[in-house]
Amino acid sequence: MYDTAIYGAGPAGLSAALYTLRKNMKTALISKDIGGQVITTWDVENYPGFKKIGGYDLSKKMEEQITQFPIALDEGVSLVKLEKKSVFEAHLDNGKVLKSKTVILALGKKYQELGVKGEKKFTGKGVSYCSTCDAPLFKNKTTVVAGGGNAAAEALLELSKIASKVYAVIRKEHFRADPVLIQKIEETKNIEILFNHSIQEISGNEFVEKVMIQKKDTNEVKTLETDAVFVEIGLVPNTSFECVPSLTINDQKEIRVNNKGETNIKGLFAAGDVTDIPEKQIVIAAGEGAKAALSAFRYLQNQ
Ligand SMILES: Cc1cc2nc3c(=O)[nH]c(=O)nc-3n(C[C@H](O)[C@H](O)[C@H](O)COP(=O)(O)OP(=O)(O)OC[C@H]3O[C@@H](n4cnc5c(N)ncnc54)[C@H](O)[C@@H]3O)c2cc1C
Repeated sequence: MYDTAIYGAGPAGLSAALYTLRKNMKTALISKDIGGQVITTWDVENYPGFKKIGGYDLSKKMEEQITQFPIALDEGVSLVKLEKKSVFEAHLDNGKVLKSKTVILALGKKYQELGVKGEKKFTGKGVSYCSTCDAPLFKNKTTVVAGGGNAAAEALLELSKIASKVYAVIRKEHFRADPVLIQKIEETKNIEILFNHSIQEISGNEFVEKVMIQKKDTNEVKTLETDAVFVEIGLVPNTSFECVPSLTINDQKEIRVNNKGETNIKGLFAAGDVTDIPEKQIVIAAGEGAKAALSAFRYLQNQ
């Protein structure tokens, strides 16, 4: 039986673990991966203490800091169902059931999918959700970026320096990105902007070869030949696991927490991007993780 079980090992979960371990709480940390979104980030320039650090290196440092303590760290494992009985019982995708007195959910966010035909089939074969990770694979190739926000704008600019041609496929009739990014895009010769268009299908043989796009007002359909599709349409919280009793979430499926990181269920805390706290940043997730850990500690003290 653990004092606390932390699910998710991004900055929120790793920071929470650091705090629970330093309070001598018996801690389990269960996660699909270690580092979360940070390992998909090339360089981080806004984490205090580092002028610039690679996302992978920053995650590694956080991991090294917690593994100096006795921790039950299980990587490559997912939380499937969480129940509160006399204690918390977490059902994991490896078939195990993990019991703990408190739980900290630090499950973060994942990339939103387009939900079109061919997307799943070609994921990793031309369909990518991370331009920072995969743009270098498409040197002198043709690429498509779906989305009109800041993430899409940054992907367009990054790809324009590597690929020979980049199509911007945007559902709305304008960008939602920062003006400074839009201006740069408009000045970049190898970016072709297609407003009012949505991707209908991604096709190819072994790898992506084509996307079918449709114009919103006329329903006109056309095919773009491309080697890659970068899906940059935002992130969704990882709240699809089953929870009994139910967690209170907002309309964006983020877990509602108060300023102590407490959820609507006693003994169950949440931190970082999976919650409704404003601003999704590494330093904020780490801070919220620390706060949830200290709240879990005080909760146990008062039992
Ligand atoms: C491309 C990119 C660049 C970014 N650049 C910056 C930047 O420069 N500076 C900055 O401050 N922020 C940046 N961010 C935002 C920052 O990375 C996030 O705010 C931060 O990682 C959130 O931390 P988190 O721990 O809450 O969630 P995450 O980092 O999302 O971690 C969640 C963890 O939970 C795990 N998980 C999910 N579901 C389950 C499950 N069911 N069971 C078990 N484990 C699960 C995941 O595998 C992951 O390890 C960037 C984000 C992206 C995508």
